[in-house]
Amino acid sequence: MQLIKKLEEFKILDLMEKANKITLQEHGPHITLERAIFLSWWCDKGDCAFCYMSTQKSNIENPKTARRKVNAILAEAELCRRMGWNIEFLSGGYGSFSTSEIKSIAHKIYDITKKPVWLNIGITQDIEKYGEEIEGITGAVEMANPEKQKKVCPSKSIEEISNMLEIAGGLGFKKAITIILGLGETISDLKYLFEIIHDLKIDRIIFYSLNAHQNTPFENYPQPASLYYAGVVAATRIKFPKLEIICGTWVDNLANMGPLILSGANGLTKFPLFKMFGTAYGKRVEEEVYWSGRKLKGTFTDFDRLSQGFSEEKLEPYIKRYIDKCLKNKSINE
Ligand code: SF4
Repeated sequence: MQLIKKLEEFKILDLMEKANKITLQEHGPHITLERAIFLSWWCDKGDCAFCYMSTQKSNIENPKTARRKVNAILAEAELCRRMGWNIEFLSGGYGSFSTSEIKSIAHKIYDITKKPVWLNIGITQDIEKYGEEIEGITGAVEMANPEKQKKVCPSKSIEEISNMLEIAGGLGFKKAITIILGLGETISDLKYLFEIIHDLKIDRIIFYSLNAHQNTPFENYPQPASLYYAGVVAATRIKFPKLEIICGTWVDNLANMGPLILSGANGLTKFPLFKMFGTAYGKRVEEEVYWSGRKLKGTFTDFDRLSQGFSEEKLEPYIKRYIDKCLKNKSINE
């Protein structure tokens, strides 16, 4: 395949240049900030080799106790609305909340943001129970090579995820997948990724780079090389011009963002929001977008926007707590 060959020959700049032109033509100049909102600190699988949850499962006896308070979740959604951030998806929750509870939370978020929300809640059989409050369903594939994926994520097969996404598509929902780079995939594994995107008619992909957690087999693994990450994103953009691409990078790697934007990212994610908002780190995100010649939707620095807007009284203590956290971290950083 031509694109894979170009990557193997290190023609990253060629790929980025082409990907950048396609992105501007198909998607325009705006870059979004994306925030995954967690419903609970529990996962009923809990055995993906890289994941923090795999180190926690034995500590949690009852998944219901790992639920977040619904008002805290809604307060976070309200703050996203105020800042102009997108909600990347509602994450986790399966096993802690019932389908009807997740639906009810999604509906309340829809009322707040006036936008349907994406779900990333594991492999669910209950998709037909969701409606207008849901934009689409995310399948957390993580690795596209099925043999490698089986070893890293033994309890969530690509086949099951694909079935779920096919059902979702049949019901009219959009479809997304997540992929983590740095888990031992190779450039030639891109062919599997391209097959998944093509065969399942994926609308959105979220790339993350490995963030190695203690007590997992990856704990001493670094993040993938920046130009490798950029090259994979650029090749994906060229192959799928209309695909929405979100890229995650960690606070210790913010300078990855400019190259990822030039490679085709539409949005950026994986920030510790309340730690970074209004600090020099938040400003650096805005600068990465600026130096890519793009326009940022929303803000990472404007405190006035955090306190603007009406919300239900019961959300106010949570909103205040989040804003206070931001103010505290801002003052530490000054
Ligand atoms: S399914 Fe998701 S949350 Fe659960 S262990 Fe795997 S990666 Fe972690």
